[in-house]
Parts: sequence; C-alpha cells; structure tokens
Amino acid sequence: MADIRPERVLSDLRTLATFGAYKSGVHRPTLSEPDIAAREWFVGRLCAAGLDASIDGIANILGKSAAPGRKVLAGSHLESQNYAGWLDGPLGCVYALEAARAISEDPVNRHLGIDVAVFCDEEGHFGSFLGSRSFIGLLEESEIDSAVNRATAMSMREALKVPGWCGRPRLRIDPARYAAFFEAHIEQGDVLESLGLKIGVVTAIVAIWQYRLTVEGEQNHAGTTSMARRRDAGLELVRLLGAIDARFPEICGPRTVWTTGSIDLNPGEKSIIPGKAEALFQLRDADPPVLDRLDGELNALVQRANAKGRCRLALERISASTPALMDERLQAALDRAAEARAPGRRTRMPSGAGHDAQWLARKLPAAMLFVPSIGGISHHWSENTSDEDIVLGAQVFTDAIVDVLKG
Ligand SMILES: [Zn+2]
Repeated sequence: MADIRPERVLSDLRTLATFGAYKSGVHRPTLSEPDIAAREWFVGRLCAAGLDASIDGIANILGKSAAPGRKVLAGSHLESQNYAGWLDGPLGCVYALEAARAISEDPVNRHLGIDVAVFCDEEGHFGSFLGSRSFIGLLEESEIDSAVNRATAMSMREALKVPGWCGRPRLRIDPARYAAFFEAHIEQGDVLESLGLKIGVVTAIVAIWQYRLTVEGEQNHAGTTSMARRRDAGLELVRLLGAIDARFPEICGPRTVWTTGSIDLNPGEKSIIPGKAEALFQLRDADPPVLDRLDGELNALVQRANAKGRCRLALERISASTPALMDERLQAALDRAAEARAPGRRTRMPSGAGHDAQWLARKLPAAMLFVPSIGGISHHWSENTSDEDIVLGAQVFTDAIVDVLKG
C-alpha cells in the first residue's frame, strides 16, 4: 500500500484555490491570468514530484513518469466555471499528483508509473472538451482556429499566445504506454451524501440527447382574438412540456433526467399571442434502451398534440451522444480499494455530468471515482467536500491505481 500524505493533498488544493480566489470558491476561466498561473504552478509541482512535465500547444499538461513498464494515466482539469467551486477539476488533478508521489515514495511500489494529465477547457469556455479531444487525436486545427471565449470574445489562439504556448506542438496519447485512465471528481450531486456513503464508483458517463421543439400557431391581438379562435403557440408548447413531464416518470430509468433549458416565444410581447414558440429540451441517461424508449415517446406525444391541437408542432433531435462505459475491471479495483478503507460506504453510480474520462474511454480502459459533494452543490462558489472525505478519496484512488498496475 502506498500511503498518501493527507496534509499535502489538502495544502495543494488550498494553494490552487488561491489562483482566482472568489469568496470560498474560484473564478478561473480557461486561459485567464489565474488559470495560466495555476497551470504553471502545477507543472512545478509535477516536476518536484519527479515527473517530466510540460504544457502543450492547447494548454494541456502532461507529467511523465520515468518508471519502466505500462503506466496509469490519471488527471482531470484545472480551470473552473465562472464564479464556481474550488474542487471541480483540481481535486482530480491533485489526486493524480498525490498518487504519483505516494507511489514513488513507497519502497515496495516505487517501480510503478503514473503519468499525470491536465486537460484544458473541460468547462467549455472556448469549446467542447478541447483538451481531452486534442489529446486523443480528435481535434482539428480548424476547430481551434474558430474557438472563441464565450464571455470575452477573445480567440483561443490569442489567449494561447499570452503565456507563449500558441506555437507549441500538441501532445497526443500513446495508448501502448498505458494500462488505464483514472479520473477522480466531486460527485456534483447528492446521491453519496444522502445515502451516507463516501465513494462513488462510476459505471458510465451518461449520454445527452438534445432536441428542439417548435410550435407554429398564429400571431394575433391579445385583446380582440377570442379564446375559441386563437392558435397560441406558447400555450401549446407549455401543454406539450406538461404532457412530457406527466408521462416520462412512468417509463424512464431510475436516474433519467430531463430539462427544458430554454423557452422562446415569438414575438414575445405582452399583448401579442405568440405565433411561434421554441424550446430546447434535453434527456440524460446511461442506458441506451431507456433513451430509445423516451425518444419514441417524445415523438408520440408530439404526434398526439399535432392530431388534436390547433398548432403545428415539430420535434428535431439536434444531437445524441452515446454513454461512455467505464471499464469493469477498473471499477472492481475501485470497489476493492473503497471497501478496504471504508467498508460498506461505497456505491456504483452513473455520472450525470460530462467529464474528460468520456473521451479518454475511447482510447483506454477508463474509470472514475466520486467523493461526496456537501449539499450536492457544484458550479457554485459554495461547492465543498469535507477534508476527511477528500483525504479518504485520495487514498482509495491511489490504492486502486496500485492494484491495477500490479495486476
Ligand atoms: Zn469538472
């Protein structure tokens, strides 16, 4: 067993939280000044741990171990959402760093190797998983050319020029080098806390299916058009959303979630009956048959509304990802490690949020460990996890990696 050093884990996390500190969280958007400083600091920590570390042309960081044999790749991301929490991302980076340190300090296991990775822009300030997709070879130069910061309108190329990383080559994964990829993360939900559990072993990262619902009615005067003859697109849309919400609980999976993230009424004036209405609707689940069933039901509900309503409804599926399955052997290693350190306090669970691991899983057997989020809160500056849970998670993470490297 390679023992982690709890005070080192906590102090590294607290130091990272000083880069872009905001209330008890951080505001550290990708390639902002504090983000650049945090990356440089982290490279220093990787080098101090004996890893050969560098930052590449898309601000990804890789710290390479000199140990012989196949290694484990571990890591997460360092940037934050706007005005968000201190652990989302950094926890997984520091766990990976600590696993590398603990293993190199352990006389029994120091021949084992961990490479530590930090993937740029997981939080999507410039694009969608640009860092992890670059690392697995699924990012074209043209996409970087067109990537622009949503908040500041600065191009990614310009932002990369500030620290001088723009012209550097981009690192690519060498799958033959690795036995597995491990990522740790805060749960960002309240499953663990509400069940009194300490460790979540992720089974799959959910698929996200996105839809556009459009309704066409007739724009008209809100005072002179009788209720009997009006064709109110807004009302029809809301009726449909109500019908979805009534029907889905009867046929969904235990952890299916659905969200109407945006509703737009046209023209959107207080005295005009909306002639058009549009909603963006999203489904998340880790089970393909559940997604297919809900997709079929959505179409049926739209058809039914069309048959009896006065408006024309249409449903368009904009995107449909597939769930990223985590490797069973790695899940079993996390189970064993969790059971040894905190008997009876673990569960297997899907991840409702996207993570870099979903991309790494295309190249390597991948696994994710969750620690509890206090109150289930994340993407908010009050996001937190108890010190005790942070330390326990780091040890379980390290134990599982040692287990896999020895296996
Ligand atoms: Zn994250």
